[in-house]
Amino acid sequence: MAKVAFLGLGVMGFPMAGHLAARGHAVTVWNRTAAKAEAWVGQHSGQRAATAAEAASGADFVLACVGNDDDLRQVCLGATGAFAGMAPGAIFVDHTTVSAQVTRELSALAAEKGLGFVDAPVSGGQAGAENGVLSVMCGGSAADYAAAEPVIAAYARICRRLGESGAGQLAKMCNQIAIAGLVQGLAESLHFAEKAGLEAGALVEVISQGAAGSWQMANRAQTMAENRFDFGFAVDWMRKDLGICLATANETGASLPVTALVDQFYKDVQKLGGGRWDTSSLIARVRALG
Ligand code: NAP
Repeated sequence: MAKVAFLGLGVMGFPMAGHLAARGHAVTVWNRTAAKAEAWVGQHSGQRAATAAEAASGADFVLACVGNDDDLRQVCLGATGAFAGMAPGAIFVDHTTVSAQVTRELSALAAEKGLGFVDAPVSGGQAGAENGVLSVMCGGSAADYAAAEPVIAAYARICRRLGESGAGQLAKMCNQIAIAGLVQGLAESLHFAEKAGLEAGALVEVISQGAAGSWQMANRAQTMAENRFDFGFAVDWMRKDLGICLATANETGASLPVTALVDQFYKDVQKLGGGRWDTSSLIARVRALG
């Protein structure tokens, strides 16, 4: 069992840190808003620290799940940041969805201090984190990954290394690109059914068994039909992720016309007041126009 620190006890981090404690790791948590860390130690065996640096002090692994590029920089750097507390040989594992650029930047700074760094964004949402069945896409040196993988296993259904630093974040971008167009297609299909007078439940029961079936259809079609979006992966987060995808595509020369369009559709959902709605709320926009 390892000595680990977990930084960022949000929707994802709170249950992920809980799985580490349940596995028997010695866990110290830190959260910017102290009340969440207090709540965590009330529910799990572990300690809480006053700063990221204090939590990271003496840890073999420091895991984080915060918001965006700037949030990750803040948590890692500076006098109270994680890197200041970590001892040479310790490994930082980042579960935040961020750019490959900030990943490489922080990985290089970590290397200067003798620290390991693994980018390890996740897919599977709040339910995946709570049930410990996340898909984890990793980048970093083979040695750092091999050391971190048994720790990550506490909340992973599958964990794979895709390449050097940043490869995990690039894989997460592929994940989000694959979702964006698919959810819009599902929204249009359900909207078309409504207009044509077909009952959504009966429709989905049959077409989900064929070539149109997907995780989104199995898990979201019913709630989309019911106009329920108060759960799941927020539109604001999706726009952050698609922004990263589009910026990276600009750098690499990849063509993402549908992703760019769906990003604008999510902007419309934000204007409808849906920034915290689940990403399946694309159907609310289709309905508003139809
Ligand atoms: P969340 O519930 O909003 O939690 C964000 C966490 O990050 C909070 O603990 C927050 O602290 C902390 N944080 C944010 N900015 C910070 C800063 N500058 N300094 C220190 N702490 C900071 O978000 P989440 O849903 O857990 O998502 C976290 C990450 O996972 C995001 O990158 C998201 O894109 C990704 N992700 C989310 C899902 C999902 O379904 N939710 C799925 C896959 C990936 P406070 O409590 O103080 O605000």
